[in-house]
Amino acid sequence: MIVVMKPGATQRQIDHVIERIEQLGLRSHVIVGTERTVVAALGEKRDGAKQALETGEAVEKVVPILAPYKMASTEVKQERTCVAARGLKVGGRRLGVIAGPCSVESRDQILELAHFVKEAGASGLRGGAFKPRTSPYSFQGLKEKGLQMLAEARQQTGLAVVTEVMAPEHVPLVARYADVLQVGARNMQNYPLLEAVGESELPVLLKRGPSATMDEFLLAAEYILKTGNTEVMLCERGIRTFEDHTRFTLPLATVPYLHQTTHLPVVVDPSHGTGKASLVAPMAVAAVAAGADGIIVEVHPDPEKALSDGFQALTPAAFRHMMADCRKVAAALGKMM
Ligand code: PEP
Ligand code: MN
Repeated sequence: MIVVMKPGATQRQIDHVIERIEQLGLRSHVIVGTERTVVAALGEKRDGAKQALETGEAVEKVVPILAPYKMASTEVKQERTCVAARGLKVGGRRLGVIAGPCSVESRDQILELAHFVKEAGASGLRGGAFKPRTSPYSFQGLKEKGLQMLAEARQQTGLAVVTEVMAPEHVPLVARYADVLQVGARNMQNYPLLEAVGESELPVLLKRGPSATMDEFLLAAEYILKTGNTEVMLCERGIRTFEDHTRFTLPLATVPYLHQTTHLPVVVDPSHGTGKASLVAPMAVAAVAAGADGIIVEVHPDPEKALSDGFQALTPAAFRHMMADCRKVAAALGKMM
């Protein structure tokens, strides 16, 4: 349920509502809006709770939250959430661009790319140090050494480091180096991991599972939000379909759909979404046109020699061209990039 306070409700009146919610065995979550404050009452349905809260001083109304994802829903919060990590801001008028290699491969590689993508207009640096690979024989990432290289790249460029964490027990280590924790597609429903990244209090980039519905995606986000961490970005990275001309199928209708159902910002990954370098830039442009709050793109100085996902990596020159095209579309929509 949401307890909507009257405009001008005092802190004492809000505190009283919080106390009543907690006495009813529910959790409270306060959202201070520009016009009014609302207090969400979360938990199992309780008989008589609505009536009990309605009588509170300065309570305008009590309405049920219909969506199964309570804190992620626009029913609870209409104002869009803007997630920020250093210069990376996702959810405002300026689009967030996160770029870099699939995997951190060497100090030279990540430093060179960091300077390049920064120059080209990115504000986040991606790069996996712990890599979820389909085959156990493939390159698994440089682990902590990779994280140290990312931290050095951040120190030189100021870019926000976005990197994947694969297991709850790795969260403290990865959080020491990262600005944003990425939860990969394969881990979208790893609930202990979602709780652990939530508790880290760092912003989280949550990737959609390749077979997850929108409700499952938003309920995964809800696990993070429930810890009290409200800094969650949703990332559409493509789903598994019968199509085989692309690695995954990138459904861009999820961008406006998510904007209607949640206040969380939406990032699109055209690299994994297509799996083909030649398709990445057009789909990045399409993502911007669909209203995405950000994009995450794989770039490699020499894609042929990449240790992972080289077939979908843009060369630095192709990335620069993609940025120029995206900027035109962003400007047409009144956004900056
Ligand atoms: C990645 O970003 O390199 C990655 C492994 O992505 P996903 O989890 O979407 O497959
Ligand atoms: Mn990759």
